[in-house]
Amino acid sequence: MQVLKFGGTSMGSAQAIEQVCEIVKNKKQNGRLTIVASAMSGITDKLIQVGTLAGQGQEQYKSVLEEIENKHLDTIRTLFPITAQSSIISQVKKRVNVLETLCDGIFQVGELSARSLDKIMSFGELVSSYLLAEKLKVSGLSAAWKDSRELIVTDGNYGNAAVNFLATNHQTNQYFQQESATYVVLPGFVAATADGETTTLGRGGSDYTAAIIAAALNADVLDIWTDVSGMMTADPRLVSQAIPIPHISYAEAMELSHFGAKVIYPPTIQPVMDKKIPIWIKNTFAPDDYGTLIHTPDGNGRNYPVTGISGIQKIALLTLEGSGMVGIPGFSKRLFEALLQEKINVILITQSSSEHSITVGIHEADMLKSKQAVDSEFAQEIQEKRIQPLVVERDMSIVAVVGDKMKNHHGTSGKLFAALGRNGVNIRAIAQGSTEKNISVVINKNDVKKALNVIHEAFFETPLKQVNVFIAGVGNVGGKLLEQLNQQHNFLMSELGLHVRVAGIASSKKMAFGHTSINLPEWRQLLENGEASDIKTFAQKIKTLNLRNSVFVDNTASPEVAAIYGEFLQHGISVVTCNKIACSSDYNYYKSLKDTARKFNASFLFETNVGAGLPVINTLNDLIRSGDKVNSIEAVLSGSLNFVFNNFVDGASFREVVKAAQDEGYTEPDPRIDLSGVDVMRKILILARESGARMELEDITNHSFLPAEALNAASVADFYEQLDVHAAHFKGLYEAANKEGKRLKFVARYENGKASVGLQSVAPDHPFYNLLGKDNIVLYTTNRYADQPLIVKGAGAGADVTASGIFADIIRSAR
Ligand code: ADP
Ligand code: ASP
Ligand code: MG
Repeated sequence: MQVLKFGGTSMGSAQAIEQVCEIVKNKKQNGRLTIVASAMSGITDKLIQVGTLAGQGQEQYKSVLEEIENKHLDTIRTLFPITAQSSIISQVKKRVNVLETLCDGIFQVGELSARSLDKIMSFGELVSSYLLAEKLKVSGLSAAWKDSRELIVTDGNYGNAAVNFLATNHQTNQYFQQESATYVVLPGFVAATADGETTTLGRGGSDYTAAIIAAALNADVLDIWTDVSGMMTADPRLVSQAIPIPHISYAEAMELSHFGAKVIYPPTIQPVMDKKIPIWIKNTFAPDDYGTLIHTPDGNGRNYPVTGISGIQKIALLTLEGSGMVGIPGFSKRLFEALLQEKINVILITQSSSEHSITVGIHEADMLKSKQAVDSEFAQEIQEKRIQPLVVERDMSIVAVVGDKMKNHHGTSGKLFAALGRNGVNIRAIAQGSTEKNISVVINKNDVKKALNVIHEAFFETPLKQVNVFIAGVGNVGGKLLEQLNQQHNFLMSELGLHVRVAGIASSKKMAFGHTSINLPEWRQLLENGEASDIKTFAQKIKTLNLRNSVFVDNTASPEVAAIYGEFLQHGISVVTCNKIACSSDYNYYKSLKDTARKFNASFLFETNVGAGLPVINTLNDLIRSGDKVNSIEAVLSGSLNFVFNNFVDGASFREVVKAAQDEGYTEPDPRIDLSGVDVMRKILILARESGARMELEDITNHSFLPAEALNAASVADFYEQLDVHAAHFKGLYEAANKEGKRLKFVARYENGKASVGLQSVAPDHPFYNLLGKDNIVLYTTNRYADQPLIVKGAGAGADVTASGIFADIIRSAR
């Protein structure tokens, strides 16, 4: 004997029911098949709606009822030949009439009891199973329909009745002994009390019906036919990378289903497990897929300590706390008894080792009842201030990782917490079952999808890590960065196991997000059609999306953008920036960003703030992390100034050289930011701070070479005028250096906690003398590099190299 259960989607349309018949016919078997059917998908929800509306005295229940009737009649018309239709339609109409009469009564009284609701809900399974039986008969098979209410006996707990196994097994065996049909079809979900009142077995209960019958008949196997190819490593609707688990133990399946894996209704497993009957979960719409075999464990060579991950939403946490609990037995007993009295299901328990508090997780729907019950149980202690009133927190979810093998593996919880921690998921409570088959964490409901995905990634997708990049600023540098990300995408996947997705982009006016990720070759188009935005809206959207391994990239020079880094870091979102403002403004802001990043496990990287793509800051960080001490830094840090002074040779006009630098894109839009030395001051400030100095911009001495009239000119155009007015001054600077065989370099210096910038003439034997074009150079003199400084030198400006520096920071943050 085999028992097969077909779920709502499998029974959901005429086409699906035909597919069910195919599967049933193709089953090679000796002996009989018992088939348990769910209601057509969506029907139970609609029936509940009908009952609720009628109970509230709302007449719309009639139109919902009509929808239910039409769905079944349409199915009959497609499924059956015309000659067979009329008798089937009249049978179904009879049931519809009974339902209508029942609902009219409820509407009149204006009250829906649990008992009436069970009668209403039973319609779905009674009709769907009848249609399936008729279809098998029409196909020429020896089929019979039997009402499960005549087989399964329960108590009167309507909506979630408890089975009387003794009576059920007796009636079931008796019926099957006298029934001769090869295919027996039964409605799932429905049962009856000993007096014949209709009951139901809880939402999703058709699985349970099938298990009860399989156990009663000592079936060889119980098939659960559904709409996915087995029990999967996580809910495929939430984790797109989830994969089916071919073999799983009863205990693991029970834990996963109890913690939200809806594919099988939790009570289903016990009756068949007791009889060692295997459960095979199969996909009606892909019957050749292996599916999942639930049986006595051996793991079948599985090498993951974790078998699957699931989650329960809409959880509330109850915390009972107070000094009066310490060392006094009986508090938890009274807490649980108070909850039991109200039939409140406790899903998770944790107690602090100080016994000062106990926390339980329950369904949010039971929140108010719990609060009343517990506060009244402890009224005396609360009044005497030995215990505080029960604290209730809502909007929580539980995520559980499950696996028989976890107990033999150390480090499972470490990996779990690290994955959540890196992604800014705050854990409110933790529970580990003493069998070590399950670790559950309570988190905020908004974090569930992210949490499931990062945990899944940590345990099942080791080779590939998804990184979600959000880019503000898509001008020169941003544009190049997008180009490079596009070009390197496949290389990063295959060589580094990084799946870098650009999930959102923003200019100063618009923003666009990809459904999964932005198709990079089309980014300009997408942005053009994007929504209007400002940086605050963009940031809000990034936080709401709450994607794992998120990185925010700032390619702007905007103070507004620099001001929101803290918000990202606090949410565990890494920040990569070429914008110098944050690191060179107020020391406290810079420091707070570094501290926040550390606290929330996010990266805050700004390599491109100094020397574009050159490894200036990383080299410095590496020296200091490895215990070295920086004694001095001497550097040429302005690509723009270097370009200017390298081209300002005999006969050249200073104004024209500056103009050329601007036209080439080597200066800021206002060239004074470069020429005044302010940009270099910012850079040496950042290096000083990264060396450990607590320094502000005002602490740096600037020996400016610009005449005050040029520096303070009203506009950029006036500034250029002033360069001509002061042409002799610039010429003088050049000639003085040239006469001594020296070259002009704008040098930044940091030594003994002091920093300065200024124009300097350097001799041919100095490392700065031969610095070409827009190159940068940094000399670190440290305890280890005492005689000869460590030198970093190369192109220090330009969109391409800056973009590649940002790119490298993105990869660094991801790893
Ligand atoms: P049926 O109507 O066949 O009983 P259900 O809707 O009750 O089907 O259960 C199947 C659904 O369970 C799947 O479509 C899937 O979305 C969901 N599900 C949740 N967790 C898991 C999991 N770990 N593995 C497979 N499916 C899951
Ligand atoms: N039809 C019922 C429900 O939707 C039972 C089931 O499908 O298992 O809950
Ligand atoms: Mg189900």
